Parts: sequence; C-alpha cells; structure tokens
Amino acid sequence: MLEKKCETFNMNRVIDEFEEMTRDADQVQKQTLRDILHKNQSAVYLRNFGINGNTTDPEAFKALIPLVTDLDLEPYIKRMVDGDTSPILTSRPVPAISLSSGTSQGRPKFVPFTDELMENTLQLFRTAFAFRNRDFPIDDNGRALQFIFSSKQYISTGGVPVGTATTNVYRNPNFKAGMKSIQSLCCSPDEVIFSPDVHQALYCHLLSGILFRDQVQYVFASFAHGLVHAFRTFEQLWEEIVTDIEDGVLSSRITVPSVRTAMAKLLRAPNPELADTIRAKCTSLSNWYGLIPALFPNSKYVYGIMTGSMEPYVKKLRHYAGELPLVSHDYGSSEGWIAANVTPRLSPEEATFAVVPNLGYFEFLPVSETEEAKEKPVGLTEVKIGQEYEVVITNYAGLYRYRLGDVVKIVGFYNNTPQLKFICRRNLILSINIDKNTERDLQMSVESAAKRLAEEKIEVIDFSSHVDVSTEPGHYVIYWEISGETDDDVLQNCCNCLDKGFIDEGYMSSRKCKTIGALELRVVQKGTFRKVQEHFLGLGSSAGQFKMPRCVKPSNVKVLQILCDNAVSRFFSTAFE
Ligand code: AMP
Repeated sequence: MLEKKCETFNMNRVIDEFEEMTRDADQVQKQTLRDILHKNQSAVYLRNFGINGNTTDPEAFKALIPLVTDLDLEPYIKRMVDGDTSPILTSRPVPAISLSSGTSQGRPKFVPFTDELMENTLQLFRTAFAFRNRDFPIDDNGRALQFIFSSKQYISTGGVPVGTATTNVYRNPNFKAGMKSIQSLCCSPDEVIFSPDVHQALYCHLLSGILFRDQVQYVFASFAHGLVHAFRTFEQLWEEIVTDIEDGVLSSRITVPSVRTAMAKLLRAPNPELADTIRAKCTSLSNWYGLIPALFPNSKYVYGIMTGSMEPYVKKLRHYAGELPLVSHDYGSSEGWIAANVTPRLSPEEATFAVVPNLGYFEFLPVSETEEAKEKPVGLTEVKIGQEYEVVITNYAGLYRYRLGDVVKIVGFYNNTPQLKFICRRNLILSINIDKNTERDLQMSVESAAKRLAEEKIEVIDFSSHVDVSTEPGHYVIYWEISGETDDDVLQNCCNCLDKGFIDEGYMSSRKCKTIGALELRVVQKGTFRKVQEHFLGLGSSAGQFKMPRCVKPSNVKVLQILCDNAVSRFFSTAFE
C-alpha cells in the first residue's frame, strides 16, 4: 500500500460534503452498493448467489443474497486467513485480517480489512473532527493525548497479516498523516504505541502527555474504560512519573529497549519546575476531581466511546474531567464504521450518531419482542423514528448483508440519514428459562443498586455476571469490584436491589414462583477485573479495544476461575421472600 500525502484539512468543506451526502442519502446508498458490487464482481461468494457485475438494483441484491451472521461467513474468511488468494469474498486478496477481541461476543472472530476500510476510517475521523472542531475549536499545532495501543500483528500460516482492527489502522502508513491533518498528533512516540508491553506503554503515554501538557488539546481513548483505567493508573503511579520528570531519567520499570530510547529523547533534561507544578496539582485535588484539566490546562474535551457498554464508566470519567465536556466517539466496529457524532455538544447520555451513507450499504432489521418473528430489513431512509433495529452491513471488504448483532434506536434524521442511539448487543446474556435480559438490563440493574453504595461514598469499579445452573433452580450471579469496604447489611441491600433491578416480566415471575433462585452478589477483591483484562490481553486482544465481558459463559473457565478465586464475600437476595 502506498503512503498517500494527506490533503490539507478544510473544516467547512468536510462539513459541506457531509451535508450534501446526507441530503442525498438514498442516492448515495444506491451508488455505494453499485460500487461495492462492481469492485467485487469476481467474488465467488456473490457469483454463487447469482450476482454479477451488472447487478445494480438493491432489490435484486436483497432478493439474491441471504442475511448472514459471522458464523455463516467464518468458513470463507478462514480460507482467506489460510492464504487462499482466489476471489472468495472480494475480487482482490485482502491485505490484512482484523481479529475482533471477541469480548463482546464471547469468542474472537476474523473479519477482512481492506484499503477501503482504512479510507473509510480516515473519512470518518475527518468528518467527526470537523463537527467537533466547529463546536470546540482546538489550537493549531496542538496535540492529542491518545491512549492507543497497537497489539501484535502476526502473519498467518497462509501469509496474511492478522491483528485487531485498531492495530491494522495504527500500522497503516496513512494513519499518522491522517491524524496530523486533523491536528491530532499523538504526544507519545510511535514506539510507545507499538510497545509489546501495554503497562509500559500506558506509563509512557501518561508521561508523554505531561511533557506536552501545554499542547494537549484533547484526551482520547477508544473506549471510556480505557480513559478511566489510564487515570486510575495515574493515581497510583503519579509520584514515579513526577520523579522521572524531576530527574530527567526514565523509570527502570520501562524495559523495552525501543521504548526507552524513544522516551529518552523526550525526557532530555531534568525539569524540576514541571515536576513541582504537577506535584502541586496532584496534592491539591480533592479525591482527584478535575484531574484531567489540572494536568492538561489547554484541553478542550475528553473523547472516547461512552455509550452502550461504556456507560458504567461515565460517572468516574466525569469526575476526572471536572468541567471539561465529555464528547462521545463515533459508532463502528471491526467490520467497518457506521455513523459519526455530528452533534458533539450532546452529553454521553444523549449522544446520537448520524449514519454516513457512503461507508457501506446499510439495512435495518426491526427488533421485535419475539425473536422468532420473521421481520424484513428496511433500507437506510425507510427506518422509523422510535423503532429499534439490528444493523445489517454490506461493505467493500466482503461482508454482504451481515448482521452486526448491535441494536440501535432511530431517534431522528440528520437531513435524510438516520440518527441513531446505540442500545445494546442483540444477544441475551442472562437467561435461565423464560427470562430474557440483555447487557443493558444488567447495566441498569447494577446502576440502580450502585446508588445504595454511593450513599456510602463507594463506587462499583467494574462488574460482570454469570448464570449458575449448577444449583437447582439456577440463579444469576453478579460479580462486583467496589472501591471501599462497607457493612454487610449495605451489600445485602445492594444484592436485593440487583434482584429487583431486573424488571423483565419473565424474570420477575420466575423469581416469584421460585423457578429462578435468589440472585447472588459476589464481591471480589480489588484488582480482580484488572486480572480479567490481563487474561484477555494475553489471548491477543488489544488494550485499546478491550470491553469487559458482562456475562461469563461456563465455557470461559479461566475467567470464571479468576472471579471465583477472588470472591471475598457473597450475599443472596431476600427480595422475593
Ligand atoms: P469490536 O468488536 O472490538 O470491533 O467492537 C465493536 C463493537 O463495539 C460494536 O459492534 C458495538 O457493539 C460497540 N461499539 C462501537 N461503537 C460504539 C458506540 N459509539 N457506542 C456503543 N457501543 C459501540
């Protein structure tokens, strides 16, 4: 792939282009589908279903190509990973494969990564930046403190590079130029982003950010979890970071030679003045409230995905951000980008995303109460406000009518393109018999129970769950890591709140007639969820893309073991006695 020179960024032009494209959303969708089918006209997958280069009509496409899930495409993608360069899903062999962390779906999956997906990524970044910059302008020559981590890319036995989607993006030669053009150059040297050790990388990101503190315009991590994790780590390590600055010598905890060499260039001389400033800031804060603006006085906002499964981290992030706005990052997945945040002033709770009509051909499958109902997907401009849908994506990288598994709600239109709210992953995570609870239901139950803890000034650091059917009847187990100690009766109370917090009819009636047993709250010791994250990182998931699994399947023996081994107390709900 050739490194392209990035065009100069022109905010008004990018916004105008987006306005025009979204006014013409329907035509742009049709044209995008034509392009995709034309580009991939030799793909055997399409040909086998009777599609050839002449298919231009969306209706013909929908009549011939079935809706699929990742499982259906797995055998095709596996052949690509194994080095079969024949036109399987795409006309040309793909340059890389993305490995999704699998934390959202419980198992890793492969998806093709192509030059078009890279282009889409840069287009999406430019669009979102243009709208952000209109509302929160940043200074020329500023930098962004970006907690980004490139996990290892390996070459499959078939000779194809495989890495997480973010790794494929960060390793792309166009990434750096693209970020520079939108004034978002990282503070840290590349060696930090590509460090094989994520703990050392995080330390160096924090240190680099402070060294460039006056230039830092915004603070970013892909997911809110990453931001909270970064500043929790800072709380523990700040004195060491300050000592490095004071002495001009990098801590001995950094052992990766390339990272040491790169950081030594930044940390050229002792800087006691900066060290004193940071020390004074850190010691004057009350419980670290407003840490981010205290460290980075010129930052304009904090940026990352804060919706969906990241909502539980927003409260803590707000605490660190003080008065700084929290801006929700856009909506996409390893499979491709879908929608941009073009209303960045909205709080994370209100955030919506406008579908970008040239990033793929999008369909929306209505989500009905009964999973069995055979609903038909509707087109981008046919969606109804207030209705929930599963996103179905057709893209340049060989995914055709692919069910993404995400549920979104249409909340309005931006010109003629839908504006959506992310609701949850479609799959149920907690179910024993007739009960149906999604990740969002769990989140809401935890949120309501956490209010009781908040009265004691204690927060839920992280949580997960598990369906235990080894007892008769089966019951839900919720694991909590909390920030302090409290009386058993408070936790008993929280346990009852959790049980009552699942308001699904099936659950409540099963609890009343005792076909589901009392909910169990297990409190785990501090650091347990860090161990869970370590476990996933060890399996190759990237620190930047990590999402805590909210429900641990029985097959995930290792994670269950970590949670069980670290449980310090357990409570059974008495809410339905
Ligand atoms: P990954 O599998 O690591 O590529 O993660 C992609 C998934 O993250 C999506 O399918 C969504 O479930 C979730 N996601 C991505 N963007 C957002 C967003 N803005 N808000 C909520 N969830 C998101």
